[in-house]
Amino acid sequence: MQTLKFGGTSLSNAKKFLHVSEIIKNKTKDTSVSVVLSAPAKVTNYLSEIIENIQCNQSSENIFISLKKIFNNIIYEIQNFQIHFPYQKILNKVNNILQKIQEIIQDIQNTQEDINYIYAKIISIGERISIIIMKELLILKNFSIFVIDPIKTIIATGNPLHATVELQETQNNFKKNIPLKKTIILMAGFIAGNQKNQLVTLGRNGSDYSAAILAVCLNAHTCEIWTDVDGVYTTDPKISKKAKLLKSLSYEEAIELSYFGAKVLHPKTILPLFKNNIKCVIKNTSAPNNEGTIIEKQQKNHLKNKIKGITYLDKIIMVQIKILKTYESHVITKKIFLIFFESKIQILLTQYSHLQNIYTFYIIGEKYQKIQELLYHTLKNKIDNKIIEIIKIEKNIKVISVIGNNIKNDNKIIKKIMYAIQYSNMNNFNIINHISQNSISIITNTKNIIKKIKIIHDRLFNKKNILEIFLIGIGGVGSALIQQFSKQKFWLKNKNIKFKICGIANSKNMFINLHGIRLDDWRKNFYQNQKPFCIKTIIQYAKKKYLYNPVIIDCTASQKISDSYDKILSNKIHIVTPNKKANTNHWNEYKKIRKIAIKVNKKFLYETNVSAGLPVITTLRNLFYAGDKLISFQGILSGSLSYIFGKLEEGVSITESTKMAQKLGFTEPNPKDDLSGIDVARKLLIIAREAGYPLELKDIDIQPILPKEFFDINDEKIFFKELQKINKIFLEKSKKAKKNKKVLRYIGNIQSGGICQVKLIEVDKTNPLYNVKNGENALTIYSNYYQPIPLVLRGYGAGNNVTAAGIFSDLLQILS
Ligand code: ADP
Ligand code: ASP
Ligand code: MG
Repeated sequence: MQTLKFGGTSLSNAKKFLHVSEIIKNKTKDTSVSVVLSAPAKVTNYLSEIIENIQCNQSSENIFISLKKIFNNIIYEIQNFQIHFPYQKILNKVNNILQKIQEIIQDIQNTQEDINYIYAKIISIGERISIIIMKELLILKNFSIFVIDPIKTIIATGNPLHATVELQETQNNFKKNIPLKKTIILMAGFIAGNQKNQLVTLGRNGSDYSAAILAVCLNAHTCEIWTDVDGVYTTDPKISKKAKLLKSLSYEEAIELSYFGAKVLHPKTILPLFKNNIKCVIKNTSAPNNEGTIIEKQQKNHLKNKIKGITYLDKIIMVQIKILKTYESHVITKKIFLIFFESKIQILLTQYSHLQNIYTFYIIGEKYQKIQELLYHTLKNKIDNKIIEIIKIEKNIKVISVIGNNIKNDNKIIKKIMYAIQYSNMNNFNIINHISQNSISIITNTKNIIKKIKIIHDRLFNKKNILEIFLIGIGGVGSALIQQFSKQKFWLKNKNIKFKICGIANSKNMFINLHGIRLDDWRKNFYQNQKPFCIKTIIQYAKKKYLYNPVIIDCTASQKISDSYDKILSNKIHIVTPNKKANTNHWNEYKKIRKIAIKVNKKFLYETNVSAGLPVITTLRNLFYAGDKLISFQGILSGSLSYIFGKLEEGVSITESTKMAQKLGFTEPNPKDDLSGIDVARKLLIIAREAGYPLELKDIDIQPILPKEFFDINDEKIFFKELQKINKIFLEKSKKAKKNKKVLRYIGNIQSGGICQVKLIEVDKTNPLYNVKNGENALTIYSNYYQPIPLVLRGYGAGNNVTAAGIFSDLLQILS
């Protein structure tokens, strides 16, 4: 036997009724079936409005018109699809029910019946009508149907609108009345009867609870709750699009999720299933083949301390009572609990402060005024005699709960939750210490609860997809990077990735905004809000505990900033940089940074250190991971020198071509660094170190292009003037090479054993570097796996856009 429950969302129109009847039919092929139905969507809300109107003495004529329309549409349209559907008969039945309710309301002043029982009758008519319609649909499919009357069969006590089922008594009723096999059992959800056979209801969403009771009473092996979502999510998917479907849950977790507000399940649903070890599956009526969420007993060793979901309850009333005469504490608390119990008031949580002898009660689903009147009336004596003091009765309190197996005992998880709350900017909150080990609840009166939950949820479940970026250096590359962030805004959004720019700095000033700097007018904001630059302050900001995934992008060539990398990483901040200084520092420093990065599990990425956006480092690393070994390497590693020597071939002088390269942004800030060979040597060192050679910069043999006299010139103008003097030498060198059908190339070379040279050589057509010019870089890698034909990487190795793109790709790598 299986019990299936279809919620209002699954029965909102004729098509859905027909679709549900098909699902039921298909189920009967495998098992006997019992079905619980809810009212069509919106109907119970309308009925609830009618009750509110009664309380305010207002007419509900319009609501009755709307209800008639809903039912009429459903019945009428079903007839369009099923011509044998007894439209008129059903319509008369429905109109009769509505008519009777209208009569009850008209006569309400004269009735002796407790008003709550009348409300229960009113609010439950939708379920009765659903059963009438479905019964006819299934009869048309040739099924025999047994309809259980829940008033006579499901016995419940307590508040007539939030009754609790007496399972034992109910089970006895089923023993008396076992339905025939080959019969589909139908029962209206939400409805039960008390011991006097009066109709009571099980609280909003109570059909889930009805289904669980029916499943227990019929010994079903599964209770399926069919609704409008694929199952239980990490939060209400209406709150966050990032909510994740939970494939399975333990009974305990499901109980807590529903108790603390996951509306997909009525809070009392799971306990009876748990006690009887009946599997519960939440399924989507619109996607019956999806697996849904399975709630069942889980082996202890399968239960991980893991956050499963976040829920909330609002409209909670908080009552704080201080007991002034401590010796009376016991008697008084008993009395207060009794007052609530007798008034059938549901207490969600209680809290006791030993220090102040204050009891706090959190009450659900009640009106503020009722609680106030009740307490001041029943406790009047105690208040007058100064035995107790009612400190506060506050409405609109919210309870946010985070649920997961045993999370209360996991400090790491608690910390994580606290950071997430802090991140949501919720200032006013209070953690409540309740007995459950599987949930943490916080009390707040914050406004905008949905937004806060979304932030907390996304922080807890999607932290991998956010980077909080602090960009240092807004020259060519830095600015190009900001432009790329802006340009790729929608792409990133589509991929569910957020690059939040929290800080922008140049060597003098910085602008920090942890809420995110807008990119369309960042320059204006930067200049209006800048403060003096200080790397320590940036680290302080970036290490704020509530940031997810801070990263500092160093787009400078500064030694000073690279000297702070150890501190940056130690503070658990990732680094992405085209700055080569740290990687060409002493071997010990080089190792130290990597050690720290591994220790704190943060990334230090520098793909753009060599040949801008070309994937050099990643390619080498992947080869070595796969067991490859470098045999030798030869490459044009400088965009500027590639350009300059290309031009030389065309007969342009070295001075002219250097000026042209500078104009195109290919050179280092000081073009002398390119021509001195030091920049190539740095890149070569980085590659050699990647290949495992523990070399220092001084180990690289640099054969400079320029004579020694040039090394001390720092003034750019003088440099270019001096350069003119050697124009001729270079043109001649180039001509000589041409004669031998060769070209000049300034290369970095690694030989076996890690011998590294930077030198000017002549290459012929057979060399892959022969055609590499115009700012292109090319790297030929001979390895165990790549020989005799080398692996060649070729493309622009300098330029703002390609470098920025390389940084962009490193940022994505942090998230991968
Ligand atoms: P039904 O009419 O089928 O009983 P409900 O509206 O009562 O449907 O419950 C389904 C709704 O519960 C979903 O549409 C969803 O918005 C809401 N919900 C709240 N919390 C969760 C959650 N954690 N997972 C899935 N749905 C949730
Ligand atoms: N129809 C009732 C409600 O809307 C019961 C249910 O749907 O479970 O609350
Ligand atoms: Mg529901």
